[in-house]
Order: sequence, then C-alpha cells, then structure tokens
Amino acid sequence: MKSESVVIIGAGIIGLKVALVLAERGYGSQTTIIAEHLPGDTSINYTSPWAGANFSALSASDKNALRWDQLGYKHLLKLAAQDGKNAFVRETPSTEYWDEMPSRTKLDSMASYLKDVTTVQRDSSAGPTRGCCNKFTTVTLNAPMHVHYVLRRLRQQYGVRVIRKKVLSVTSGFLSKDTKVVFNCTGNAARNLQGVEDPKCYPTRGQILLAKAPHINQNVMRHGKDYETYIIPRPHSKGNVILGGYMQKGVDLPDTLGDETESILSRTKAMLPELESSETEILAAFAGMRPSREGGARVASEVVQVDESERKGLVVHDYGAGGTGFQAGYGMGS
Ligand SMILES: Cc1cc2nc3c(=O)[nH]c(=O)nc-3n(C[C@H](O)[C@H](O)[C@H](O)COP(=O)(O)OP(=O)(O)OC[C@H]3O[C@@H](n4cnc5c(N)ncnc54)[C@H](O)[C@@H]3O)c2cc1C
Repeated sequence: MKSESVVIIGAGIIGLKVALVLAERGYGSQTTIIAEHLPGDTSINYTSPWAGANFSALSASDKNALRWDQLGYKHLLKLAAQDGKNAFVRETPSTEYWDEMPSRTKLDSMASYLKDVTTVQRDSSAGPTRGCCNKFTTVTLNAPMHVHYVLRRLRQQYGVRVIRKKVLSVTSGFLSKDTKVVFNCTGNAARNLQGVEDPKCYPTRGQILLAKAPHINQNVMRHGKDYETYIIPRPHSKGNVILGGYMQKGVDLPDTLGDETESILSRTKAMLPELESSETEILAAFAGMRPSREGGARVASEVVQVDESERKGLVVHDYGAGGTGFQAGYGMGS
C-alpha cells in the first residue's frame, strides 16, 4: 500500500483526529494529509488554534452528537492520564450553569460516563436562576499546542505524510490511482469547496480573551439562550486562562471588538469573582469562526466520479463540528 492510499484534506483538529484514529488502526504509513493551513499558522480560515478549549455540555442532543462526545471524552481523559503534559490536556474541575434545563436524554447520557458528575436542578419558578447546574471533571486543552502535538505524533510515531497545499476540489484529493479514499475535513471551507458546496454550512463567530490568571484552576460555564459565558484554564501555559464568549450564528467578522471584550470581562467576573484580582492581566483578544452546519456535522461517505474517465472513488465527509471539534473530533473520526 502506498502513502497516498488514504488522503485527508484538512489539518484542523478534525483532520488530525481522523488521521490519529486511522494511524492507531495501522494505516499511518498509508496516509497523507493535504492542508492549506497547518498547526502553527494563524488565519481566520483555520479555526482550530482559536478554540478555548474544553469538553462541555454545549453539543446537541441527537444520538450521533451524544456518541461522539462520549468517545471524545474517553479519548481525552486517557490522553490526560497517559501523556497530559506533552499533549497539553488536563483534567479540570468544572461547573456548568444552564438557564434552561437540557434534555433528559442529554443529562442521562452525560451521567452515564462523566467522571464525578452531580446535577442539581434549580427551582423552575425562580426566573433567571431556573435551569440546572452540572458539576463534573472535565478535560481542558491548550488548543494551539494540542494540534501541534497531534501532528508531531502523526509524523514521528506513525509515519503520516503531510503536504501543504490548497486544493480546488474534493476530487483533487485523489493524488494517484492508488488513492482509495479521501477524507474531507475542510471545516468552514466545505461551503465553497468544489464537489462539496454544502449550503447548510455557516460560520458561528466567537470572541475570546487570553488572560494571565494563575490563581484560576477551575472551568466555569454558563449556557444561556442567546449567550455563552465561560472561563477555561489553559493547561500547561504558565497560568493563562481563556475568557469567553460569543456564539454569533452566520457572522464572519474576523476583527475583535472592544465592547465585546468589556462584555466578556463583566460576565466572567460576575460568574467567578476571583477573576477580579491584581493577578489577572488581559493579554489579547481573538476571534474565530466555528464551522457550523444546519442539522449538525456531516459524517458520511459518498461515491464520486474522480475524473473524466469512469473511475469512481470514495469520499468520507467529516465537517461541520461547530463548537465541539476538540471534544467530539476523535469520536467523529471513529
Ligand atoms: C472561540 C472558539 C472557541 C471554541 N471552543 C471550543 C471548545 O471549548 N471545545 C471544542 O470542542 N471546540 C471549541 N471550538 C470549536 C473548534 O475550534 C472547532 O470545532 C474546530 O476547530 C473545527 O476544526 P476543523 O478541523 O473542522 O476546521 P479547521 O480548524 O478550520 O481546519 C480546516 C482545515 O482544512 C484546511 N482546508 C480547508 N480548505 C482547504 C482546501 N481547499 N485545500 C486544502 N486545505 C483546506 C484548512 O487549511 C485547515 O487545515 C471553539 C471555536 C472557537 C472559534
């Protein structure tokens, strides 16, 4: 088998975790990743380095999303235990507040596998304080460093080949007659990539702050109807935390905005008053576009015509992870 038997287009967290799943099954030396952006790059068209990132109950409640979350959580928990420092992944105590109760299916699913989980239902007549509060051990990731780690492992441990290149169509992934399958892990680009052109794809903008706050060691989130507020300690970063955020459906503005910075600061300080300290220093603001999709991520295979001849090939789509690529990426590739 040749190194281009399996081709993955995309080196965001989704392409990298698909490659990892394949490598763990013995296909590393037969796999090539092609990507315009690689770990270390900063571009508004490359979402992964801008993520918080943590495992949270933010995802949807359908069967697929619940299964991907569970597989992703187990994978990250194992990584934190076995190679946490190198992988920039850490177990972290977490509290999540919900303004509205999540579905019973979701709560039951999470309760079946999350470590140390307790759920407290709050008084349903108590106005804005109704909903519930979930405490559990989450997994936090240093997103830009974690993608570096996965790529390094793929190359060094498993012999995966990496080519930096922009392709114009999904069928360009069929590098030679030896290419049996192409994985399409192109994130937001799936909306315009020739041969995919998925009109259900849209960006969901988020703005976050990178702060130094070495005294913050817990993950805290609040899920509202139209907002998300969160505090995520960044593992192995000498005391940095991520403060967020926003979930702006259909917005693709790459700039960061001063009024959003102020709103993030006031919401996160209200949620965790320890942030109001001389030890807290705001270092930077960033914006990123979650690759969202109406109806959820597309994880599906398709037989396509590769070229003008009769040749057919298999494309496996894996995009549209929205705000859950880090927590669910391994599950989406499994
Ligand atoms: C502010 C913010 C906070 C977030 N927090 C979390 C969190 O806490 N937990 C969590 O799980 N997720 C979080 N996310 C979501 C997560 O970042 C995304 O789900 C994930 O990064 C999507 O990864 P991807 O691989 O699909 O896309 P991307 O990272 O964008 O990667 C796409 C890849 O495809 C390549 N590509 C595209 N088109 C082409 C082409 N034509 N030719 C060659 N290569 C191409 C790109 O170069 C790139 O390598 C957050 C996102 C944001 C913005």
